[in-house]
Amino acid sequence: MPRPDLHTRIAQARAQRIDAGRQRVRRTVARRDGVRCEVLDRDGKSRWLVNFCSNDYLGLSQHFAVVNALQEAASRHGAGGTASHLVCGHHALHEALERELADWIGAPRALLFGSGYTANLGVLQALLGEDDVCVQDRLNHASLIDAARLSGCRMRRYPHLDAEGALRQLRTVPEGAAMLVTDGVFSMDGDVAPLRELSLVARTQRALLYVDDAHGIGVLGPDGRGSVADAKLSSGNTGVLQLATLGKALGGYGAAVLGAQDVIEHLAETARPYIYTTSLPPAQAAASLAAVKLARTEHWRRDKLQTGIAHFRRLATRHGLELLPSDTPIQPLLCGSDVRAVAMAQALETQGYWVAAIRPPTVPEGRARLRVALSALHTTADIEGLVEALARANDEVRGVDISGDASAPAHRGIAEHTEHDGARN
Ligand SMILES: *Cc1c(COP(=O)(O)O)cnc(C)c1O
Repeated sequence: MPRPDLHTRIAQARAQRIDAGRQRVRRTVARRDGVRCEVLDRDGKSRWLVNFCSNDYLGLSQHFAVVNALQEAASRHGAGGTASHLVCGHHALHEALERELADWIGAPRALLFGSGYTANLGVLQALLGEDDVCVQDRLNHASLIDAARLSGCRMRRYPHLDAEGALRQLRTVPEGAAMLVTDGVFSMDGDVAPLRELSLVARTQRALLYVDDAHGIGVLGPDGRGSVADAKLSSGNTGVLQLATLGKALGGYGAAVLGAQDVIEHLAETARPYIYTTSLPPAQAAASLAAVKLARTEHWRRDKLQTGIAHFRRLATRHGLELLPSDTPIQPLLCGSDVRAVAMAQALETQGYWVAAIRPPTVPEGRARLRVALSALHTTADIEGLVEALARANDEVRGVDISGDASAPAHRGIAEHTEHDGARN
């Protein structure tokens, strides 16, 4: 066989994606004003949509105190970190943010990473090797799957939310060190991991429990401390390691791993995605520091968010819309086929609402959905308007194929979340 030509292969793969209606297209946002944003079309026209797909759950990304902190720190300290943390990129603002995060979440130590994605790569790569096992929920985020691959460990997956399944998988690999890994709040489903049961399983199997709390931080638990605190566990003391990301409820960019002193020090000295990369811009750390202070004290944001979630679910149910079970800001409406999910999203956009259609491989085959994401900034009128638009869209696409098959006509793609790989394995 001759060596394949990569350009030919790429062209074929792209043609296949277009045939299957699975091309991914970015939408360009020209301006943001709270939950409203101006989206550019390809023909240069633009329109304002009410945004129901951002992860800015507490509405902090444009908060004046957060933006001021960023501007002020940038004017003093510059735009970039200038080097990795271990060379000369570790700034007092990074140090202050790590302390604030550890104090808030209630963990002995925190370590900043460039993003949640690289933090996950770093944690699994630094802690696990070839002889070890990583047991993961089937619907874990794609970065955790990639992280297990990078570490070279053996990976086993258990049915979604099934603590007994996790126990069985841990028992099948009794030798080597073990890590039990789960999303705290599942990014495409909005449900919450059974952390108390999982922590018990981890303890009996001498496994470290690692909770990726990208969607729990700021939203769940006392003072928004996340899903671990909500389950009355704590990071660090009971063999729990936790990921907090700064790009979702905290409205900025970056991430932190929280846990016991020795684990954090080991990560700082050995995690390649920590060592071989430039530190976060100190100004970004200053912005997150301001955001954490707001998130931990302004309880009204969480209260308003919860009221909005309950209102949305009540209204949706009244309109006969079948939502997946979730009490978090992530409220998925299952559509089944890709075509249907995309048709629904387009019908919503026509009515002025932006909701992401999420298709495989981000979610398993036949489980395409609309992922409605609520924010503390949505008003009652926004939510009521969305539910009415959803009901109308649902009527409009009733005729559209619901068989769950992916062979759709080419259509304009809808921007999506990161690849989740939930269908694999
Ligand atoms: C978004 C997300 C990540 C990645 O975090 P970034 O900071 O955006 O890189 C990791 N895990 C989960 C569950 C996520 O939803």
